[in-house]
Amino acid sequence: MVDLIGQYQKIKPEVDQAIQNVLNSSAFINGPDVKSFAGELASYLNVKHVIPCANGTDALQIAMMAFGFRPGDEVITTSFTYVATCEVIALLKLKPVLVEVNPDTFTIDPVAFEKAISSKTVAVVPVHLFGQCADMDEIMRIAGKHNLKVIEDTAQAIGADYKMKDGAVRKAGTIGHVGTTSFFPSKNLGCYGDGGALFTNDDDLARKIRMMANHGQSVQYVFDEIGCNSRLDTIQAAILRIKLRHLDEYAAARNRVAAFYDKAFAGIPQLKTPLRNPDSTHVFHQYTLTLDGVDREKLREHLASKGIPSNVYYPIPVHLQKAYRDNRYAEGSLPLTEYLSKNVLSLPIHTEMTEEELSLITSAVKEFLKPD
Ligand SMILES: *Cc1c(COP(=O)(O)O)cnc(C)c1O
Repeated sequence: MVDLIGQYQKIKPEVDQAIQNVLNSSAFINGPDVKSFAGELASYLNVKHVIPCANGTDALQIAMMAFGFRPGDEVITTSFTYVATCEVIALLKLKPVLVEVNPDTFTIDPVAFEKAISSKTVAVVPVHLFGQCADMDEIMRIAGKHNLKVIEDTAQAIGADYKMKDGAVRKAGTIGHVGTTSFFPSKNLGCYGDGGALFTNDDDLARKIRMMANHGQSVQYVFDEIGCNSRLDTIQAAILRIKLRHLDEYAAARNRVAAFYDKAFAGIPQLKTPLRNPDSTHVFHQYTLTLDGVDREKLREHLASKGIPSNVYYPIPVHLQKAYRDNRYAEGSLPLTEYLSKNVLSLPIHTEMTEEELSLITSAVKEFLKPD
């Protein structure tokens, strides 16, 4: 699904040197590259504060800890997402309230979000799933009306631009009160291990986030809150500084792949190609088809027989997972989400794909649909 080796080969001299420099300095924890990377990412995102941490799941957890939510507070998010989004809510003893996505864009349905608000709701977590922004104007309007915090899960959409209705263009993750992201190797901005970060324009919130990520420490050996220990390694920060310089070119490469697929699959009734939110650019973390009347497993087997990987993000929605079972969400309670889980299929998309590979994949899909 990705070609991390091919991508590394192209930037190998720079990356190897950067890693060697960290080894030479042996400043493995909070070395100078961590601060430099945070500053460079802040300029790229045009946001005041970037606080690095250990992974994208921690970033979500730290955001919710920094807001000081109390057990029983309700947090609204989607069931059609990676489990981490919901996991941290449950882990902090907050109550996950799961709502539908817009099946065209795979992002939270603002109408469903507003309907789910109760007197206990404290926050909403829009997930910019597969690489484009949720409907942020509507989400911000509704959240503002009900005084809710907005935590953007930007793990799959770093670098995407959203055009606000006032014309301002903002980067994904910098529109709500706080944005979170992951630098997991296969993410659009991936390091060579685990990593994550939070973004915010709010000075006070940034201070709390830094404190929560550092054991709740305000001054050395003074602990004002129960925090956690979540840091980005210096080696990972050094790698990310190099990869950040390529991020826009990587997004362009992914968009070329998506355009190829779109064109090849246009007009095929069994394949719904991913629709774009007109207010957002797309960085195509995934290229996800919605199949109509196609045996997904058989198609996957056909592709696999030709050496073509494919994957399903996500085959079981969060509300139907054993760990998250709750009598509020029986099977059938989120029908659009359940439909998507049964019918989506993601094809390989990455920065190193060739036209030959793309032709092979699109031909194989078409051949399965129309054998002759
Ligand atoms: C990857 C991902 C996360 C978690 O990131 P990790 O770095 O793996 O902890 C959270 N949310 C979404 C939507 C993701 O895709």
